Amino acid sequence: MTAKKGRVFSGARPTGKQHLGNYLGAVHNYVALQDEYDCVYCIVDLHALTTVEDTENLKQNTYEMALDWLAAGIRPEESIVFIQSHVLQVTELHTMLSMVTPLGKLTDLPTFKEKVRMQPHNINYGLVGYPVLMAADIMLYKTNAVPVGVDQAPHIEFTREIARSFNHRFKTQALIEPEMKITEAPKVIGIDGQQKMSKSLDNHIEIAATPEETAKRVMMMVTDPQRQRRSDPGNPDVCNVFSLHKIFSSAEEVNMVNVECRRAGIGCVDCKKLLAKNLNAHLSPFRARRAELAQKPEYVWEVLEDGNQRARVIAEQTMVEVRAAQGLP
Ligand code: ADP
Repeated sequence: MTAKKGRVFSGARPTGKQHLGNYLGAVHNYVALQDEYDCVYCIVDLHALTTVEDTENLKQNTYEMALDWLAAGIRPEESIVFIQSHVLQVTELHTMLSMVTPLGKLTDLPTFKEKVRMQPHNINYGLVGYPVLMAADIMLYKTNAVPVGVDQAPHIEFTREIARSFNHRFKTQALIEPEMKITEAPKVIGIDGQQKMSKSLDNHIEIAATPEETAKRVMMMVTDPQRQRRSDPGNPDVCNVFSLHKIFSSAEEVNMVNVECRRAGIGCVDCKKLLAKNLNAHLSPFRARRAELAQKPEYVWEVLEDGNQRARVIAEQTMVEVRAAQGLP
């Protein structure tokens, strides 16, 4: 095996079965990064507690998400896949980092303000501290790079600032300032044709859905709103079905749709049928592998437990340095 470039860390809240947005925006990249980096992928269930009010599905959602990740090609022999709350050191580091974090910075972050707008009835302390816990997640595992979309960039910048101020204050090198690896992943729009694909908006298409369910969701997709009748020419540039064709269909098909839609040579129904067919063909190997893995649910839990143990070893090494740097007895 060739030498890896360093360690990558990424976390995702346990949202259960993954949708096309998660797949194209994150999971696909997680799989690819394994070729170049030593990867640590964390299911951040503690983070989920800041926004989830009903926790009864957390365990099932953790399982379903891990199953999707493994079926999509995350290799647990190489990469560490684990559950945040099973490595207690993260809460310890979070507390320590909170002492070097100016409160005003946290309340100024756009993501915090957004959460306040979204859940005004539940502005809990954890929401303010979310970026500190995220910084602890990242630095606990001596991470060199974090793959992020542009919206998460301020959090990583913030992590770097915390690392600098901690290292400076305690005259140590215990915390590594992680690099930002900006991903060029597309923002996937939901079947409503307007908003980002998301489970909470129920505008998503699950990658583990059956071919029939997939076709049904694709047929519900909102296309160019100006195109009222079959005989009207359409505009692929504003159509989300076309955006997905560009990802899942062949170059000839993309070209055909592009030309024929504009002169009403193809209707939205046929265009969607073609997309559903190609989407199902693309996801078919993933679905077969998922069905195979789902035969042994204990396998997924074993992978996670093994990941927890490997993560704990790295975490404890970091904490030995961090505790010593602060002069704790
Ligand atoms: P989190 O709060 O952990 O980001 P999400 O379920 O919202 O949880 O997202 C998990 C990952 O999937 C993130 O990396 C996010 O950027 C990506 N993702 C989610 N929805 C979309 C989407 N519609 N388009 C592109 N990427 C998405």
